[in-house]
Amino acid sequence: MIFNKLFDTGKTGPKVVFFGAIHGNEYCGSLAIKKIIGDLESSSLNLIYGSVLFVPICNQEAQSKNVRFIDEDLNRIFRKTDTPKSHEEVLANELTTFIDQSDILLDIHSMQAEGPVNIFVDFPTIENRKFAKALGAPYAILGWPELYTNKGQGLVSYDTTAYTNKVGKIGILIECGQHSDPKAVDVAYDAIIRTLADFNVISDIGNKSVVNIDMKEITMTDLFIKNAEGDHFVSEWKHLDKVSVGQVIAERETGEKILANYDCVMVLPKLKGLVGREWFYLGKILGFL
Ligand SMILES: [Zn+2]
Repeated sequence: MIFNKLFDTGKTGPKVVFFGAIHGNEYCGSLAIKKIIGDLESSSLNLIYGSVLFVPICNQEAQSKNVRFIDEDLNRIFRKTDTPKSHEEVLANELTTFIDQSDILLDIHSMQAEGPVNIFVDFPTIENRKFAKALGAPYAILGWPELYTNKGQGLVSYDTTAYTNKVGKIGILIECGQHSDPKAVDVAYDAIIRTLADFNVISDIGNKSVVNIDMKEITMTDLFIKNAEGDHFVSEWKHLDKVSVGQVIAERETGEKILANYDCVMVLPKLKGLVGREWFYLGKILGFL
């Protein structure tokens, strides 16, 4: 059983669930959730309506080994299966029930590369857009499901927010910063407080629910898979670095250069990517969310 902690006011209101460490080597969500649990237990923070379910470490075994996953990426196979065949499929069967019991999900992640905080709004409903704007991040990234459908090259993405959307709930994913950056924990903590304030589960502490009207919207346009160990970047890209048309981004082991065909931004570059898996994405800044 996956450790989880429920705080229920007994009063009608939203049921919010927070996930940390869907990827084992991403610690900011786990640490921030544990801090909030401490705040609620000591009554330095108090809920006024609804309930909150915390799942600080969704993949405990992966976290204990400081790896992203044990058998397969939990955030690509996140759905119910009748006969789970991997460690992560067993976890997904239990984690999906937490979403079934809730109204709202915030899934908290960190990144391999450095870069600004951003929210993945894979299903840009009015509710999800409003939720994203409440978290104070400078960027929203859209278009993940369409990218996997159109350019996934056989890769699929059954992920937490896709499941949440499928069962008719509100759900977004936040990337709080680089894996080992201690500031990512503060970002995650702030995002949890803002979520609770935005949905009126706590009273608004320090006007945290002020909506961010300057949130830039990035649409994902391309996905690149690492084909061989010798595939390498030509520079140490950071998440959301600008890339100009014609600029060389990376070079394949075969010598083939990967160039930008349009002005764009680098999205989630994996400097230590695995062969056969997602290596980096490109996106375009289109306006404001
Ligand atoms: Zn992650």
